[in-house]
Amino acid sequence: ERRVLSGIQPSGSATLGNYVGALKFWVDDQDTSDCLYCIVDLHALTVDQDPASLREQTLQLAALLLAVGIDPNRSTLFLQSQVPHHAELSWIMECVATYGELSRMTQFKDKGKGSSTVRASLFTYPALMAADILLYRATHVPVGDDQKQHLELTRNLATRFNNRYGETFVIPEPEIPKVGARVMDLQDPTRKMSKSSKSDAGNIYLTDTKDAVAKKVQRAVTDTENKVYFDPNNPGKAGVNNLLSIFSALKDEEPNEIAARYSGYGHLKSDLTEVINETLTPIRTMIEELRNDDRHLIELLHNGAEKAAVASRDTLRRAKSAMGLIPWS
Ligand code: ATP
Ligand code: MG
Repeated sequence: ERRVLSGIQPSGSATLGNYVGALKFWVDDQDTSDCLYCIVDLHALTVDQDPASLREQTLQLAALLLAVGIDPNRSTLFLQSQVPHHAELSWIMECVATYGELSRMTQFKDKGKGSSTVRASLFTYPALMAADILLYRATHVPVGDDQKQHLELTRNLATRFNNRYGETFVIPEPEIPKVGARVMDLQDPTRKMSKSSKSDAGNIYLTDTKDAVAKKVQRAVTDTENKVYFDPNNPGKAGVNNLLSIFSALKDEEPNEIAARYSGYGHLKSDLTEVINETLTPIRTMIEELRNDDRHLIELLHNGAEKAAVASRDTLRRAKSAMGLIPWS
């Protein structure tokens, strides 16, 4: 059986990159797999978060996941911090990972920039991510290609553990969507769209108004050629490639076919605006409805955490026992 674990940080407001690279597939996975969806609030703490904002972003993200189509009756939707097993297995994974391999993680190098004042957790969090996945014996992990390296580490740690302490963990397979795998910042198409970046004009948020979407797409960086074609290997076309990739991902049509219909950037941008708003409008409406009753939302998350705790207990107990720890239960 396919069991899928997916995680997203409440580190800001979810972007179109999150939707195209992840959430869209999460929803479809529910038809074929046993799915667990984790709001990884502990990961968000690797950088400073204002407590009130973190609380608000977490609830907003939970509403958003429900709004895009995650169904809590078919899937397990929960907050990482409400299931203590994650932090516990994370310690064990830190005892399996080496300093050298954590140092090589590009996300640490990017966000940490070698500074000694970054949080220690920014260095160790790939171990927590491995724990998130391994706890549930996930067979498949859908990731945007910014997360490929983390999944590779998870596979290495699980294999090392199994070799040293005996068969305990399932080795998960990565699933990387082809088109639109990485949505780039509209203002700087060499950088990925990222909900924690302060690039307000470069990010399209799933909660943006119609007008905001129109403005951002109109102002998106392109080039001076004014010819619409898709050439992913040409850095000079990065802006247009990005617009075509987004269009392609939302419409399930090849970027080349889309490009063939346009003779200039103006029309491409106005049609893309419409395509994005077709996707976002129903999501926006549903989020507003859900946020009218936060108590219901919180109760729903509690139920999810209870299911997740039951699903992960046995693996944690087995891992501890395999290492020589005396299990409490
Ligand atoms: P942060 O800036 O805090 O890292 P993020 O936008 O990168 O936020 P994550 O919570 O790290 O989002 O990742 C959630 C999911 O979204 C992951 O599966 C990740 O691969 C995917 N994802 C994130 N950004 C993009 C992007 N620009 N294009 C495609 N997929 C993305
Ligand atoms: Mg990220």
